[in-house]
Amino acid sequence: MENNTKFSNLGISKEILQAVEEMGYTQPSPIQEQAIPYILEGQDVIGQAQTGTGKTAAFAIPIIDLVDPDFHKPQAIILCPTRELAVQVEGEFQKLAKHHRKISSVAIYGGESIDKQIRILRKGVQIVVGTPGRVQDHINRGTLKLDDAGIIVLDEADEMLDMGFRDDIEAILQEMPEERQTVFFSATMAKPIMDLTRKYQNEPHIIKIAKKELTVDRIEQIYYEVKPTLKMELMVRLMTVNNYNLSVVFCNTKRMTDEVTESLGSRGILAEALHGDLSQAQRDKVMGKFRKGLCTVLVATDVAARGIDVDNVEAVFNFDLPLDEEYYVHRIGRTGRAGKSGVAINFVTGRRDMQKIKDLERFTKASITRMDPPSVSELIEMKKKQLVKDVHRILAKDEDNQVFEETLGQLLTEGLTPEQVALGLIKMTMGEAVQELRDQDFSLPSYQDRRRERGERSERSERGGRFERGGRDGGRRGERRDGGRERRGGGRTTEANMTRLFLNLGKKDRIRPNDIVGAIAGEAGIPGKSIGGIDIYDNFSFVDVPKKDADHVIRTMKHNTIKGKTVNMEISKG
Ligand code: AMP
Repeated sequence: MENNTKFSNLGISKEILQAVEEMGYTQPSPIQEQAIPYILEGQDVIGQAQTGTGKTAAFAIPIIDLVDPDFHKPQAIILCPTRELAVQVEGEFQKLAKHHRKISSVAIYGGESIDKQIRILRKGVQIVVGTPGRVQDHINRGTLKLDDAGIIVLDEADEMLDMGFRDDIEAILQEMPEERQTVFFSATMAKPIMDLTRKYQNEPHIIKIAKKELTVDRIEQIYYEVKPTLKMELMVRLMTVNNYNLSVVFCNTKRMTDEVTESLGSRGILAEALHGDLSQAQRDKVMGKFRKGLCTVLVATDVAARGIDVDNVEAVFNFDLPLDEEYYVHRIGRTGRAGKSGVAINFVTGRRDMQKIKDLERFTKASITRMDPPSVSELIEMKKKQLVKDVHRILAKDEDNQVFEETLGQLLTEGLTPEQVALGLIKMTMGEAVQELRDQDFSLPSYQDRRRERGERSERSERGGRFERGGRDGGRRGERRDGGRERRGGGRTTEANMTRLFLNLGKKDRIRPNDIVGAIAGEAGIPGKSIGGIDIYDNFSFVDVPKKDADHVIRTMKHNTIKGKTVNMEISKG
């Protein structure tokens, strides 16, 4: 459904046309195309549209053209559910009104000094964007008067009602002149919204944006099947391969954001957590760092999603799939903004997740494509390409090369051929990275491999009295099938090519076989499949690992924790 409407067909001023062009918007989005003419005409409008559809500009553009630049009193008021959204919306007004020099706006919200806001309001702004509580506060103090406000927008009206702002909203509406224009934007047309419409709007023009248009088409949606314990490894790999400048990782809990942030940090990736428990000042600080590129990854919960208004986020990772379809749209809308493209990357760790992907495809009316994790050889290929690029770049620089040329001359007079010199230098540049990649050359088995593997294991255990490793969805979790406790440590036979390791954690630490496999596979970089039998006792456990990997496992696990407990492993003396 291509539409060919241009901004210049919508009856907006040349100043806005110029601003829009500078912002990189080439064509109005559907909600803009449909809402702008009605709002310009002074009609009441109710728009069903979500974040990511361009709804902000859909009301900001006509409002800027409607206000009188020579009259310095509040003429338009926009109510938003959160401070983040208010700041974002006001920012959009500023950009769009860039060439309307006499029009100014302000964002007023709780958590910021009211005196500063009062000072700005006194200067005489025409457009006020605020959260209902703080707007009401200013009205009560007499620092904001709405007598001349001819237009009000309720942005994310459903969200504001959900948050309990109904009374504030109604009080504000009643402060406004009878003769006013009332515009609602809401993701849903639920009953509370319709009640408000009946009470406060006058024959509103209704615009519904179909679900398909909810997600921005520029966002590529993909998923990877991966074992839960290897999600981190895969994410880091994807970040490395694609070299994203800025990306956002979404988790379902605050705790998870902290864990992920820490893990990324320990792998040298600059990440910051963003969640509802941070104070406003802390959140601002994190967003500031992200905007400046001082951290390249934001790890956020859904609560924080709306506040992430950075235009050049290249990828959104759903480390956990969202609990709600609407959240999904909010999350992935953090990328593909301002005319740029973006990718939404989902991790699927089981059948339930797979079902969710299907639901999300239905909800967004777009397909989410399955991808295979990049292999180590692909990663090495990438490094090669990068090096070629770097060499071209550095040779293209016009600078004084005397010292370097002298060094080259010296190398050649030492009897080395140019090829040998180049090879040596390439090894020095890439060697370590390539070795590191090879060291972690484990496949990233999908949850399906895991299911297959489990099937094989239980078969084996029935035949030979081996132990089932257990899995997320049922079964006996690492209990010995023969219950032979007295044979601890050495009773079970370890295969010839395997070494049995002692681990200082056990049932009291609530660890399960999966945790052990995950930690060893993830940290030591050996295939989960290669890890053998596991016995978990109250205070300690045993795990069989390939003989050749035993020392490496002990060494890498030394600095690690499982379930927050420090790990100590040694070769079992049993
Ligand atoms: P919104 O739904 O208002 O949160 O806007 C989502 C994103 O789309 C923002 O990053 C806007 O800058 C961007 N945007 C809005 N309108 C357009 C347009 N016509 N063309 C391209 N990008 C747009």
